[in-house]
Amino acid sequence: MEDRLYYSDGLKFFLDKLGDESPNMDACDAKVSEALRIISGDIGLGSVDLCIDAPPTRFRPNGEYRSTSLYRCEGEVSSDAYTISREMPDGGTVTFTIRSCADKGFSDTDTERLELLFREIFYKYSRVSATDIIMSILTMDMPTTVLNQDGFMRAAAMMVGAGQISRYNILFFNIHNFKYVNKVFPYQEGDIVLKNYACKVKSYLCEDEIVARLGGDNFVALIRNDRVNEMIDRLQNLKIFHSAKSTEKEFILGATIGVSSLDNINNPRDIMGRASIAYQTARMRGVGSVCFYSDEIMHKVMENQSIVSNFEPALQAEEFVVYYQPKVDVNTNRVCGAEALIRWLRDGRLIFPNDFIPQLEREGSICRLDYYVLEQTCKFIRQRLDQGKEVMCISVNFSRRHMDEDNLVEKIVSTIDRYGIDHRYIEVELTESEDFQNYERMSEIVEGLKAYGIGTSIDDFGTGFSSLNMIKEVDLNIIKIDKSFIPLDVEYPNRERDRVMFCSIIDMVKKLGKKIIAEGVETPEQLNYLRTVGCDIVQGYVYDKPLPREDFEERIEKGYSKI
Ligand code: C2E
Ligand code: CA
Ligand code: CA
Repeated sequence: MEDRLYYSDGLKFFLDKLGDESPNMDACDAKVSEALRIISGDIGLGSVDLCIDAPPTRFRPNGEYRSTSLYRCEGEVSSDAYTISREMPDGGTVTFTIRSCADKGFSDTDTERLELLFREIFYKYSRVSATDIIMSILTMDMPTTVLNQDGFMRAAAMMVGAGQISRYNILFFNIHNFKYVNKVFPYQEGDIVLKNYACKVKSYLCEDEIVARLGGDNFVALIRNDRVNEMIDRLQNLKIFHSAKSTEKEFILGATIGVSSLDNINNPRDIMGRASIAYQTARMRGVGSVCFYSDEIMHKVMENQSIVSNFEPALQAEEFVVYYQPKVDVNTNRVCGAEALIRWLRDGRLIFPNDFIPQLEREGSICRLDYYVLEQTCKFIRQRLDQGKEVMCISVNFSRRHMDEDNLVEKIVSTIDRYGIDHRYIEVELTESEDFQNYERMSEIVEGLKAYGIGTSIDDFGTGFSSLNMIKEVDLNIIKIDKSFIPLDVEYPNRERDRVMFCSIIDMVKKLGKKIIAEGVETPEQLNYLRTVGCDIVQGYVYDKPLPREDFEERIEKGYSKI
């Protein structure tokens, strides 16, 4: 018997079968069943039952429990069982319950053989279980226990392969007020909140839906088409309860969400592409927005990318042209200054700043463009000086993106000095914005420029983000009042109130010793009104639109006939 076991073809086939690769536990059961069938006759096997019981671990949060029959002979099975139990490296136990056929029972030699054979089978289960754990380590986001990006891509690729992906939408979302959590709780507790968040999202999923964390507070999920709206509602109002040593808190987390259907997806890579385009668009629209992917959005994003990628070559090719819009003294009708405004001459077409500045601002290239405009303006003033012509102060716009730039003041000064022109011929226009209200830094820049004799103005005063606080905190020379703040010519319900506010602001600004420029003045009526309230300098279509350099020079010579 012993000889037969060790040298038979059956044993060889048994070991061969066990050696086959098994990608998961189900496949492993099937292979082991086949292997047992090969040697069942040799050893008189009646039945084999398997039980795997593994406790939850970090890598397998739900533990593992499986109980299955691996072999059952045709005839009677003995009621006596021989059990072999072994421990796996993760603390789990594999137990085989083995019975002989009929009432044969197992001799000592039989059980010795069983120990040897089942040791091989155990090794196979251990190997598959270890592979399972490694796969879950590779595909799981450890801090939150949901899938990571690799895990998500694997699962999505399987859905694409099975032709199922069009049944789902992808949601790409970012927790929008997570900053608040990090402020309220210590760093480690923020991680716990993140985990609770991920688990809560997971608890809303159906069995076939998946969620993954991409890093930070960014997540993606595949959600059934008919459940998308329900899921969006949940994500926009996700209640988290957090209890820690220090505090107990319940709060609501919202999300910025990009959504895309997954029709006609053949390549898993395209899944993420569509989702991130929808998400980027949602983010541009503002935190907490939801954006659905469409061809139009795709087109817009491509256009934005083309602006950004064409910027550098266009700058080298000098496709950016500086226009000058006159600032006019309303009492003399003479040009007393100008604002430099950029245009992009691309393929014979003039593109206006609103169509490319926001993209360059987001991406950061705006800073290079602002220095280019400053440089062109200095060059222009230098040429006029060399020609013995009249020169006046020209203002250039400096984006908020410069605010955290090192040596900003020195760089502006050295650019002007390269052209050897007096600093008073350049003025820097700054804008307050929702995301930049750091008056301390603004003051530092304004004072720095002032020390070099360079004037500064606040742009768009009176629009949403420009506030009286800014005037109070930052000692700018000039306030540019936005057109939206100027009371209109026509009668309307709040006109009197608007006029009182407008006059008072002009009065206050003048008393503070600052200059006022009214911008966007379009009609003679507005102009007359501004004259009566003592606003002396005006920039607007009523005099001129921004002009090409030659037209501007001509305007300086000619001035304006009376308006
Ligand atoms: P801004 O600095 O407020 O410039 C004034 C804008 O108002 C200009 O638009 C000008 O053409 C327009 N405008 C002037 N008078 C009137 C008027 O009477 N009626 C109306 N409806 N509009 C008037 P533009 O040149 O299209 O520039 C738009 C914005 O682009 C500028 O607003 C500025 O924020 C930005 N920008 C332009 N050039 C530069 C630049 O070189 N650097 C930076 N950072 N931003 C720039
Ligand atoms: Ca401006
Ligand atoms: Ca303005």
